[in-house]
Amino acid sequence: MTIGWHFDNTYSKLSNTFKEEIKPTPVHNPAVVILNDNLAKDLNLDFSNISKKDLSEIFSGNKIPKDITTIAQAYAGHQFGHFTMLGDGRAVLLGEHIASNNKRFDVQFKGSGRTSFSRTGDGRAVLGPMLREYIISEAIHTLKIPTTRSLAVVKTGEKVVRENLLPGAILTRVASSHIRVGTFQYIAAKQNLDDLNTLVNYTIDRHYPEIKSSNNKALDLLNLVMERQCKLVVDWMRVGFIHGVMNTDNMAISGETIDYGPCAFMNQYDPKTVFSSIDKFGRYSFSNQPPITKWNLARFAECLIPIINKDEDTAIKLATETIDNFQNIYEEKWLNMMRDKLGLYGNDKNDKKLINDLLNWMQKNKADYTNTFCYLMNIKINDQIYKDEHFVKWYNEWQKRISKNNNSKERSLKLMNNVNPIIIPRNHKVEEALAAANEDNLEVMNKLLSILSKPYEKQVDIQDYQLPLNNKDYQTFCGT
Ligand code: AMP
Ligand code: MG
Repeated sequence: MTIGWHFDNTYSKLSNTFKEEIKPTPVHNPAVVILNDNLAKDLNLDFSNISKKDLSEIFSGNKIPKDITTIAQAYAGHQFGHFTMLGDGRAVLLGEHIASNNKRFDVQFKGSGRTSFSRTGDGRAVLGPMLREYIISEAIHTLKIPTTRSLAVVKTGEKVVRENLLPGAILTRVASSHIRVGTFQYIAAKQNLDDLNTLVNYTIDRHYPEIKSSNNKALDLLNLVMERQCKLVVDWMRVGFIHGVMNTDNMAISGETIDYGPCAFMNQYDPKTVFSSIDKFGRYSFSNQPPITKWNLARFAECLIPIINKDEDTAIKLATETIDNFQNIYEEKWLNMMRDKLGLYGNDKNDKKLINDLLNWMQKNKADYTNTFCYLMNIKINDQIYKDEHFVKWYNEWQKRISKNNNSKERSLKLMNNVNPIIIPRNHKVEEALAAANEDNLEVMNKLLSILSKPYEKQVDIQDYQLPLNNKDYQTFCGT
């Protein structure tokens, strides 16, 4: 019974400080809900010769390959600013699968039972939130944003106790690794320099081999992680994605989006938008995502201090200089991203004002973020609002700027088409798909996934997927 796994587990060989050896807790009656055939292909896996029953045994963790050591990883994290020792409380890392080109992917079961890191939790996950992670992570991937992916969701056939009894499920998550800022915080908190060096070297080997023999590996690592995280958060700002729970344990060193809990996409533009029911003070609101990224990177930098320099004052000075550079890097990337969204080539000193004028107008007039850029690309959905005289004035200014492009209108439009999605996972459409899936109807979800698979292409009959519902009508809950 093989689907083509090719495991080469290295994290499990690190010392016990880093992990607990543990197997998934078997479940009673697993059944496949959804498999990601496209991802399987990318991973050189083949499901075609295996029965659904056997696949459900594989993706529930009931049958695991012989000769591999499965683990729960240790990590810590600042959750809403408060430091806590955490770890995989309901996840087990099956191992590192080697795909073509020797690419290495973590394969992890989420919802696979208790571990020594479970604290008071039951180690289990519920079908709705796991399917939600599946849908949104796939959407983020097709939007061309780095992310962990979802290979499968199986129902466990067991009920999970939450506010009600809910169907249990296990998600198979695929990531370039699960090393988090929180992993460094955990090891740093143990104050064992050898372990910290091990983690730094392991991470560099795996994600940043180009700095293997540099003079100050830790400082270079900080810079490279900052670069990737800046790029990531700019991508989120580009498509109106709100992660919702940017705790340091939910920030991957690889620069992939990880941990889809109370995340959601913004409809009408409002920088203060928050969907998460537990985010009372808007710590993780749309416009707070860049400063929080910087805050999290500063926590990462603190972990690296003992390795950056033997002299603590020098190390702090070097790390602080690096973190202080965040603003410049972010601003430049953000400005260029917004220029792309508006089809602007080159730099004009008034670009920032032009961009901010549009954002301010959108906020004031409660314009939909995605559909406004669609309108600028001549894709008109609910276009009444764009007759507003202030918008028309702005539009004319924008046209003047476009004419300074030294490029054809076609190229400008192409630039916009590459970065402005026509379709995003609208919150009410996601809810609709999950409600149907809960009643064993997967058609609604499959249709949604199919439309989301081509977010930058014009598709016929998708109006219903493009119309927003008011932001205020929507609240998300932590993925439990
Ligand atoms: P998350 O909110 O998913 O980022 O999880 C934060 C921490 O809580 C991690 O250490 C999780 O492993 C743990 N956790 C979340 N849900 C459960 C659960 N049902 N049982 C055990 N641990 C959990
Ligand atoms: Mg998490």
